[in-house]
Amino acid sequence: MQIRVLGCSGGIGKGLRTTSLLIDDDILIDCGTGVGDLTMDELVKIRHIFITHTHLDHLASLPLLVDTVFDHLNGEPIKLHLLPESLKTLDEHLFNWKLWPDFFVLPEAGSAVMQPCVMEPGKIAKIRGREIEMIPVEHAVPAVGYRVTSESGKTFAFSGDSCENDTFWEGLNKHSRLDILFVECAYADHDKTLSKLARHYCPESLSADMKKLTHQPEVYITHLKPGDEAEILLELQAAMPDRNPKALNTGDSFQL
Ligand SMILES: [Zn+2]
Ligand SMILES: [Zn+2]
Repeated sequence: MQIRVLGCSGGIGKGLRTTSLLIDDDILIDCGTGVGDLTMDELVKIRHIFITHTHLDHLASLPLLVDTVFDHLNGEPIKLHLLPESLKTLDEHLFNWKLWPDFFVLPEAGSAVMQPCVMEPGKIAKIRGREIEMIPVEHAVPAVGYRVTSESGKTFAFSGDSCENDTFWEGLNKHSRLDILFVECAYADHDKTLSKLARHYCPESLSADMKKLTHQPEVYITHLKPGDEAEILLELQAAMPDRNPKALNTGDSFQL
């Protein structure tokens, strides 16, 4: 199983892309601006999108993706895996014919380009040998992370956007293995007050929560605020040197 980081920044700007991970050639986790770098051949192979939550930096490319590929799917719709609350938000506020056409019914009812697959936390989707488990986190809107197991049994997990919680860490601890962890830390400690309002981690809160994790995975930090990347990394390395946290970068690739 291959993981390609299409985007992992907390913002935009030259060289920066917002959150999206491509698993092999057919599964996306989140659909941020990084998806726009894929070729047409790569775009039309996507058949599953797992959404962490409905903030725009994780969804910005979704309306444009479905509009681009709808007549290239050979009758196999893109399955959108998400919380029921997230589906309601997309129905009411995005695919509502005002902000964008409703691709849950287009191009024709009965053969729509997107098919919603509502998931409950704790449930596992099995897709051609790979298993993707939804794990709840804490954020400003209903949000989840995912734990992904490869055909060979290796595992990575992605927090999505989160602040202090027990559910994500307990969800990872109940399994015997975790090889790689992508976890967000959006703000530096000088923005601690803002991080609490926006319901994101800062180094102080993330390093405290990481004490709950019983595994020793490779740790990569995502969602860094543009301009503060180096400061956040230095604070994290000082707060949890035993974890050796590194920045995740757009273009990174992992084989599991
Ligand atoms: Zn968010
Ligand atoms: Zn975000």
